Amino acid sequence: MNNPFENALTQLQRAASVMNLDSKIHEKLQSPKKVHTADITITMDNGSTKTFPAWRSQYNDALGPFKGGIRYHPGVTEDEVKALSFWMTMKCAVVGLPLGGGKGGVIVNPKELSETELEQLSRGYVRAFYQHLGPTKDVPAPDVYTNGQIMAWMLDEYEKLVGKHAPGMITGKPLSLGGSRGRDKATAQGGVFVLLETVKKMEMNPAETTVAIQGFGNAGAHMAELLSAAGFKIVATSDSKGAIVYDSGLDIVALTEYKEKTGSVINFNGAQTITNEELLTMAVDILVPAALENQITADNAGNIKAKMIVELANGPTTPEADEILFKNNIVVVPDILANAGGVTVSYFEQVQNASNYYWTDEEVMEKLKKIMIAGFEGVWSTKEKYTIDLRTAAFVTALERVSAAMKARG
Ligand code: NAD
Repeated sequence: MNNPFENALTQLQRAASVMNLDSKIHEKLQSPKKVHTADITITMDNGSTKTFPAWRSQYNDALGPFKGGIRYHPGVTEDEVKALSFWMTMKCAVVGLPLGGGKGGVIVNPKELSETELEQLSRGYVRAFYQHLGPTKDVPAPDVYTNGQIMAWMLDEYEKLVGKHAPGMITGKPLSLGGSRGRDKATAQGGVFVLLETVKKMEMNPAETTVAIQGFGNAGAHMAELLSAAGFKIVATSDSKGAIVYDSGLDIVALTEYKEKTGSVINFNGAQTITNEELLTMAVDILVPAALENQITADNAGNIKAKMIVELANGPTTPEADEILFKNNIVVVPDILANAGGVTVSYFEQVQNASNYYWTDEEVMEKLKKIMIAGFEGVWSTKEKYTIDLRTAAFVTALERVSAAMKARG
């Protein structure tokens, strides 16, 4: 099994050797500054108690407060949370945000909890870690299987504990509690901005471009909606129950309604069912992994037929797979750039909270577009400068900023 943290360190090593990263900085970046752990015990609806292991990994805060989501998933591990917090450090730096990297996780299948149990667990997470959180310390957000309602419970618990309003302690909040307009679609929209820039570089025509998206959740479903509106043909998508294909292009609006009603994309009108593994190796122009880590590995990378991979998920490609894809001239737009739209609008949310003045959708989108395109151009020119793949270029770009901040701090 691929260990995401080992993969992250291999990516760090590759970039460090290209740019001759200072050895002391390289060493420091090989482990998180601090990993907090807790066991969260809650009373279940039937009166029994249950305990859930939880983490908050604070990787690096040279550029600003730690920033990163909280994942609720039965398969979460400490190494996964550490890897995700490292990638957050790189992600914030690659698009030039004044933020560091952190990440949280809880081993739980939230689908098995009632709403009351989920609320207790979320409030319990804040009670366990609140002394390490705060707008200028460490700022969580949603990730896989967490959402705006969970952020709202967490904010409420935090404010009760510290005895004051502090909306900037968490992002991805509902609009009624100081959330930012555009946050829901931000990850996908940011991905679309960089995808369109890459499509231009590769001289592809959207109207003739087919796309397969693995994962029809927050990131994937919004990506499908935005790309389909921009004229791309979405021919396949999936969720944890399986994948569907429709050669002439899926009706994304109807599919979204269908998924809301039935809980899955499976058996959607006229679409053929395939496996998630088959989706990855389909003959499409663009593949968008938008589910979990380690989907593209040494086992299947050689069979990938897409010309371009845009990673909305974090860590979907292993370092061994990267080498195979690079040899096969498949362009990989890496996670730390492709999905940075989410944290960028989270940053906007904090800025709005701090000034207590809120922006329109148009203002958010215009600012997001500027940051994503500047991020893309920086990474593309680093790739040209060193003749390297886009992932290593993104890490080099990020490491230049993180190491400058670490050096300036002495
Ligand atoms: P989500 O929970 O909304 O959606 C995840 C989707 O993946 C669901 O449709 C689920 O059914 C599907 N899935 C789960 N296991 C699968 C499997 N084995 N094969 C195929 N599909 C599977 O989560 P999300 O917020 O959309 O996050 C998806 C990915 O994007 C994660 O890697 C996350 O870290 C990353 N990401 C999300 C954001 C964000 O703002 N939401 C930001 C940056 C990165």
